Amino acid sequence: MSQRQRMGNQPMIVLSEESQRTSGKDAQTMNITAGKAVAESVRTTLGPKGMDKMLVDSTGGVVVTNDGVTILKEMDIDHPAANMIVEVSETQEEEVGDGTTSAVVVAGELLDQAEELLDQDIHATTLAQGFRQAAAKAKEILEGEAIEVTEDDRETLTEIAATAMTGKGAESAKDELADLVVDAVLAVADDDGIDTENVSVEKVVGGSIDESELVEGVIVDKERVNENMPYAVEDANVALFDGAIEVQETEIDTEVNVTDPDQLQQFLDQEEKQLREMVDQLVDVGADVVFVDGGIDDMAQHYLAKEGILAIRRAKSDDLNRLARATGGQIVATLEDLDEDDLGFAGSVAQKDVGGDERIFVEDVEQARSVTLILRGGTEHVVDEVERAVDDSLGVVRTTLLEGAVLPGGGAPETELALQLRDFADSVGGREQLAVEAFADALEVIPRTLAENAGLDPIDSLVDLRSRHDGGELGAGLDAYTGDVIDMEEEGVVEPLGVKTQAIESATEAAVMILRIDDVIAAGDLKGGSSDDGGDDAGAPGGAGGMGGMGGMGGMGGAM
Ligand code: ADP
Ligand code: MG
Repeated sequence: MSQRQRMGNQPMIVLSEESQRTSGKDAQTMNITAGKAVAESVRTTLGPKGMDKMLVDSTGGVVVTNDGVTILKEMDIDHPAANMIVEVSETQEEEVGDGTTSAVVVAGELLDQAEELLDQDIHATTLAQGFRQAAAKAKEILEGEAIEVTEDDRETLTEIAATAMTGKGAESAKDELADLVVDAVLAVADDDGIDTENVSVEKVVGGSIDESELVEGVIVDKERVNENMPYAVEDANVALFDGAIEVQETEIDTEVNVTDPDQLQQFLDQEEKQLREMVDQLVDVGADVVFVDGGIDDMAQHYLAKEGILAIRRAKSDDLNRLARATGGQIVATLEDLDEDDLGFAGSVAQKDVGGDERIFVEDVEQARSVTLILRGGTEHVVDEVERAVDDSLGVVRTTLLEGAVLPGGGAPETELALQLRDFADSVGGREQLAVEAFADALEVIPRTLAENAGLDPIDSLVDLRSRHDGGELGAGLDAYTGDVIDMEEEGVVEPLGVKTQAIESATEAAVMILRIDDVIAAGDLKGGSSDDGGDDAGAPGGAGGMGGMGGMGGMGGAM
């Protein structure tokens, strides 16, 4: 008996001195605040009139961007709950290539709505269930409303490509770029799907964005290895060699004791012969150009040049793979195995100047399943941001082709969802009904933010949008330039279905995960938390400590 009592009175210490614990309401508040702050930090960049952010890293490197996922990655966030929201944008980027800001903003708004309901003593589990139900219903509604698109619908594909670049650094030339992007994605599409890795991007500082171009082939960032080789070869048979044209290493390492000059000559002759044989092999099969993974011996270079073969050494394996795809060649591991059938073909292989750098262009291939976009821009920062915009654009065209369905943009789907989910909520009943309604409210953060960022009155815009949707106009969205509510499909502002469904799905999962946490036990200090509380295992002041963990972004994160 007495022993039991003593156990009850003495707190049992199971955590180390350094660990920190925040429980119950404090933990919830801390995590929600952190999650909301992340969303708040990217909110102003949303939409065509969104602003950019300048991010300076610890070494002074500067990135100017409008891209949600880039901002969050550069921000170096280390609060655990905040990171769960960052992951939402990363998933979005990986899965569909665009909508990273939207996904995070929705997640933040879900947390905000949840906070109010938690204050009204609605249990987190009820909220989680309601949110999940709403998300599933939302997906169903969107799928039902999506517009079908096929590969032949070039106009819609171009519109999708352009919408993804709206409001980014590439905007001024988005129509030209959209065409290039669609061409690029269609060129690399094959039976296995679409791998946008096969669209490589070359950035060139100098010239203007609209001088960007698409090379239906591969550009290798190398020069011919020897200046006696030809600059350009037409109708070229291309060999791809994953080895080196050098004397085999073992013979170099072997110690050779030379006792008279004849012996030395013999040894050198032997080496020369080996190199000569390798070159002859290339000549015999009829190669005009060879890309070599490793080095090329000086002597071999000399032989190759004499044969008029254009050779490139130290080609990256990525490049070799792309060349194989583009020219239809096979990469061989030993030259003895090289066969005529292994050669690829290109109508033109030439060394050309791009923005002051010499590169090898492999073009005029039969079916370029690997292409290169040359992006130009006035400064490095401009080109970098153009690349990010083009990256989003490649992603949405790919997603559209794989899925075959699109939705109007400009806040149209979110407004429609809010409307229909409020109806759906009535059928849910119970306390979960409140969660579904809160979910509907949360989605309206997208049109509201689009309006705010465009300097419009968000209430007026929302009222307008709601009444148009009430009247059955599914495609009614906000024209951020004029402030009018217009038919977005007619306007050509369209986005892939997947961008919307993925955003809702991952935002919901992250919000639910954060809401269900009622205890944070950290080994060591939660960075920035009040360190004087160090040893105390319970009751560290939640909200304040949590925010400290947001590192450098405290100033941006005014929670709303
Ligand atoms: P995200 O990272 O979420 O893609 P963006 O800054 O690209 O963020 O903004 C996307 C939002 O902007 C979407 O809701 C999209 O429908 C909207 N949008 C894009 N172009 C237009 C336009 N011309 N008019 C109104 N809204 C637009
Ligand atoms: Mg976008």
